[in-house]
Amino acid sequence: MSNLPKSLLDLDYAELGQLLFSYGVKKHHTKALWRAIQFFGYTDLSEAGLLPPLQKWIAENVGPEKPYFIEQPEQVEEIHSGDGMTRKYLLRLSDGQVIETVLMGYDGRFTACLSSQAGCAMGCVFCATGQMGFVRHLRVGEIVAQILHVRRALAKSHPHRRLRNIVLMGMGEPLHNYDAVMKAMDIASDRAGSCIGPSHIAISTVGLVPNILRMAEENRPYRLAVSLHGSKEEERAALVPASKKWNLEMLIDACRSYCSTTGKRIFFEWTLIDGKNDSPETAHRLAALLQGMDSHVNIIPLNPTNGFSGTASESGLEFQKILRESGIPCTFRQRRGIDVAAGCGMLKAERLRKQLPAS
Ligand code: SAH
Ligand code: SF4
Repeated sequence: MSNLPKSLLDLDYAELGQLLFSYGVKKHHTKALWRAIQFFGYTDLSEAGLLPPLQKWIAENVGPEKPYFIEQPEQVEEIHSGDGMTRKYLLRLSDGQVIETVLMGYDGRFTACLSSQAGCAMGCVFCATGQMGFVRHLRVGEIVAQILHVRRALAKSHPHRRLRNIVLMGMGEPLHNYDAVMKAMDIASDRAGSCIGPSHIAISTVGLVPNILRMAEENRPYRLAVSLHGSKEEERAALVPASKKWNLEMLIDACRSYCSTTGKRIFFEWTLIDGKNDSPETAHRLAALLQGMDSHVNIIPLNPTNGFSGTASESGLEFQKILRESGIPCTFRQRRGIDVAAGCGMLKAERLRKQLPAS
């Protein structure tokens, strides 16, 4: 085992208890330490007013030059959208990698959009993160740290509101980093911690078929969102290279199997790209593809990137109308916070272009 310092945010409740026990601290102290870290979000545990046995353990073991630390990514930049409802944080991890975390507040509900990887291996042609390539998976603690970061920000701006929802729709492909993402969400939904209801957590995937099936087998309590973007193979593969490995037929089969095993609905994400996947024929084919499945389609026009542009609202509404008339529940979402470069990975891409401090 390496002697590198370890993040306490990598641990779940049971592991924290075992750690304390291995140092001779009684297990019944676990809850107080867990709450200090995961509910109150202390970054300096000496300020948490804990009982002497914990204080002693912390003084000896947590902090610079000690075996354990609490992850606290440095905030490189915070950008607010014009309407003030979206805040985007550019966070620098301990190895210098920079990721994006977003806090959105609409209809009185606050949602955090988290990153699961630095970069992404899936290479979707319209996605700024995909165009950066894959750098590395995030650790559990680096995912949990994003939640605590936005909760601290929220506590300052809206002291009486709490974070209610999480979406894994930031940088990276969550099902490519399956174990870390699932453990981080188990920690996020712990009632003595951030206490986000499991059905308020949505994991968005570009379609990693084996791990969609695994989510079903393991009966994970989270919502599944699948980024579809094409209703026939050529259309999808031209936008989403991962479709060459897990093609549309395999993906739809996996989704049907997910629905029947879990009894849950699947959310399909559809990024409308001008001239690529926004025709009425595509909409009719999509409706046929999803017939009989418990699904909901979220349509959202692309945030322009890489020479691609979003579909105009009238055509987007027409697309929605076709789906609705075919009996497919569907929502046409406005682009949120486009002025803060809110598309996945777009802020970091912009910083890299301008050579401002990023990774
Ligand atoms: N890798 C996962 C989750 C992160 S991307 C996935 O692909 O689902 C989250 C969502 O943002 C996906 O639906 C993706 O297609 C979409 N997206 C990426 N770039 C975008 C852009 N420029 N404008 C709008 N949506 C975008
Ligand atoms: Fe990766 Fe999702 Fe971007 Fe595709 S859309 S490159 S899967 S982050």
